[in-house]
Amino acid sequence: MNYTPAPYPLVECQLDVLRENVKNITSRCHKADVTVAGVIKGVNAKMPLVRQFAEGDCDQIASSRLEQLYDIKMAGIQKPLLLLRIPMLCEIPNVVSICDIALASEPATLQALNDECLKQNKKLKIIVMADLGDLREGFWNRDELVEACTRVERQMPGLELAGIGTNLGCYGSIQPTVEKMNDLIAYAEAVEAQIGRRLEWISGGATSSFVLLNDGVMPARINHLRIGENILLGRDLQVDWKITNMQYLRMDAFTLKAQVIEVKDKPSHPVGKIFMDAFGNFPTYVDRGIRRRALLGIGKLDLGSIEKLLPRDSGVEVLGGSSDHTILDIEEYSGDLQVGDIMEFDLCYTTLLFLTSSRSVTMRYFEGDREVFA
Ligand SMILES: *Cc1c(COP(=O)(O)O)cnc(C)c1O
Repeated sequence: MNYTPAPYPLVECQLDVLRENVKNITSRCHKADVTVAGVIKGVNAKMPLVRQFAEGDCDQIASSRLEQLYDIKMAGIQKPLLLLRIPMLCEIPNVVSICDIALASEPATLQALNDECLKQNKKLKIIVMADLGDLREGFWNRDELVEACTRVERQMPGLELAGIGTNLGCYGSIQPTVEKMNDLIAYAEAVEAQIGRRLEWISGGATSSFVLLNDGVMPARINHLRIGENILLGRDLQVDWKITNMQYLRMDAFTLKAQVIEVKDKPSHPVGKIFMDAFGNFPTYVDRGIRRRALLGIGKLDLGSIEKLLPRDSGVEVLGGSSDHTILDIEEYSGDLQVGDIMEFDLCYTTLLFLTSSRSVTMRYFEGDREVFA
């Protein structure tokens, strides 16, 4: 028996728009002598999308996931590959065989990487991570960071100490500022004083650090950034941070299209004894009377967070859903919605991440109006 995947849910990707975003970021970074690692983990390394990062002149391609970097290498994309998540000890052989650059923050991991590099007769560039307050990965103690870097430089011939870096605005929601960048530079200079040479890169962070470059206030010694969201969606900074001088970044490279599977008038407050939802939560519901609602054939499995869907039509409100269903309030929607109709949504980083990893979602790629077959 053959199974032909359904055409919906569908994510349409405008390759030309994505490439324009890549070029707009890389050209600004290159003007400031900043090396760009284009981060593709948000689209599960979908190859037509990864190619735009390469063609748009990213210097390196980066992901947190080795299997994605493996696919990129196998696809023959000729860019240095950077592993963003500090390695698990169980993935060291793959890190060495697949990657050109890795982030690291543990002496034991550095030692294991070095030993494996010697075994495979390979050289791996290392960016040692400093934690400047966001409290995810990185050395907290500056002396320990300097000591680890010095050990890499002097005693680990399989590794090349390429630089140091930091990550901000992830777990601890810490904003990258000129002060934080200067802290990182001070760490780098402490390392340089010990090893007696300049580091190749000081990696100042991700999308959120790009703001400093865009505003022309990035300290000159920060010369490496790892950028994903701002290239793919350009949304976090322009919409959530309300930054107005980044209008050169387009937010419409991706469109989700999902199919309506039910349209009915129903009460807005559940009927019966309120207990627990499908995920063990105890939500509250506002009684707004009987309202027109639509169900879509897409759910949490495909979206991660249903509430983060952004309807393109006015008068459409996302109420919630479950693993496989999305519930919309369409009482205020002016159109005449029927079962079988297709609704369009903008994406954010979370929904894009899940959609590109869901087996139920079809991806289609376009250059302008012309479809490109992957
Ligand atoms: C995901 C990630 C990035 C990219 O983050 P964006 O906000 O998408 O630019 C950069 N660095 C590290 C270590 C990451 O894990």
